[in-house]
Amino acid sequence: MTAQRTTFQESAFSESEERRALRRAVSDLGRRYGLEYFLTKARSGERTDELWREAGKLGFLGVNLPAEYGGGGAGCYELSIVLEELGAAGCPLLMLVVTPAICGSIIARFGTEEQRGHWLPGFADGTLRMAFAITEPDAGSNAHRLATVGRRTPDGWRLNGRKVFISGIEGSDAIMVVGRTEDARTGKLKPALFAVPVDAPGLEYRRIPMEIVSSEHQYQVFLDDVALPADALIGDQDSGLLQLFAGLNPERIMAAAFAVGIGRHALAKAVDYARDRTVWQTPIGAHQGIAHPLAQCRIDLELARLMMQKAAHLYDCGDDAGAGEAANMAKYAAGEASARAVDQAVHTLGGNGLTQEYGLAALLTASRVGRVAPVSREMILNFVAQHTLALPKSY
Ligand SMILES: Cc1cc2nc3c(=O)[nH]c(=O)nc-3n(C[C@H](O)[C@H](O)[C@H](O)COP(=O)(O)OP(=O)(O)OC[C@H]3O[C@@H](n4cnc5c(N)ncnc54)[C@H](O)[C@@H]3O)c2cc1C
Repeated sequence: MTAQRTTFQESAFSESEERRALRRAVSDLGRRYGLEYFLTKARSGERTDELWREAGKLGFLGVNLPAEYGGGGAGCYELSIVLEELGAAGCPLLMLVVTPAICGSIIARFGTEEQRGHWLPGFADGTLRMAFAITEPDAGSNAHRLATVGRRTPDGWRLNGRKVFISGIEGSDAIMVVGRTEDARTGKLKPALFAVPVDAPGLEYRRIPMEIVSSEHQYQVFLDDVALPADALIGDQDSGLLQLFAGLNPERIMAAAFAVGIGRHALAKAVDYARDRTVWQTPIGAHQGIAHPLAQCRIDLELARLMMQKAAHLYDCGDDAGAGEAANMAKYAAGEASARAVDQAVHTLGGNGLTQEYGLAALLTASRVGRVAPVSREMILNFVAQHTLALPKSY
């Protein structure tokens, strides 16, 4: 029997025409703004609102959100295309990881009808933004130590706790805060998610001075007896853990897209430079000491992207468990590949790599974010060691 040969165009490894058209359209938008716009805004302390709004108008921000709430009705794969292409064009918008991916996915899957109707259309058109707060100063990578607690009151909730490194509160309308509530039967604390308006009395936030050149900043958050209405609780009180897990896969897939985008941008600049810059008889790109590391970066980025696409595909098919391992691996691979690509790109440009004019050095710290957040490389290695390899746990 002769097996039918699949043509390249039909294979599972090439994107549909729709996805390629989305890539082109996002890339066009990103290149109209570009790295210079992104860095100029960041250095002058301004926000990149016009880019965010235009991406919303074009339907890119909510491409993964349900069509009945103003979204594109596609999936996390499409949203990863948006972030990857904006990053590759020099505009890595971190809040795409947060508002449409984490908060949008959780509210779309678990929010009440009112919550979906209130938040999702605004997330999709860019008129509403939501930050996400899980990290705490005394818990860090250990989410079991979360100490933010919501207690029932006759008319709602009182929330107390502290959060750290929360991105993008500037320009956000609310923060999705991961806290705990008391189980009425057992008295044990279990996870619960709250939508907290940024102007709620008792909520304070202070910017953390970071060495990352970006308009999207990180904040410490203080929640002191913040009074919230009953409907501030996302979904219902019993599905907090499920909600959290529903947000983690899109978060990791999008963190991978953020890292791959930055890596691609840096690599493209380095390759352009290496083709032209001539200090002996041939361009520096002809020397294998320059060409091979760049080729390695290309391979590593491509492999990371492939794993990201696998994770997004599994997630969009509803295979949360399968997506979990792939999303962790993709985030790990992309974080490492991105940090190496930016480092190698800076090196390829020699002294110019460290100038503001070329903008590559500004990406050094941004590319490191992918190794730390939203989950550190070591915690992913722990996950793979314990879950994939069934090795014992040390902590
Ligand atoms: C730019 C940026 C943006 C962020 N945005 C957000 C946001 O919007 N919302 C939010 O909630 N959080 C955010 N974070 C926080 C981020 O998720 C945390 O920094 C991350 O989870 C690591 O936690 P930590 O910084 O407390 O490090 P720690 O947990 O203190 O870890 C420090 C080091 O120890 C290692 N380590 C810890 N435990 C183990 C172990 N068991 N085995 C091996 N190594 C271990 C870690 O890998 C790490 O290298 C952001 C962080 C950054 C840098």
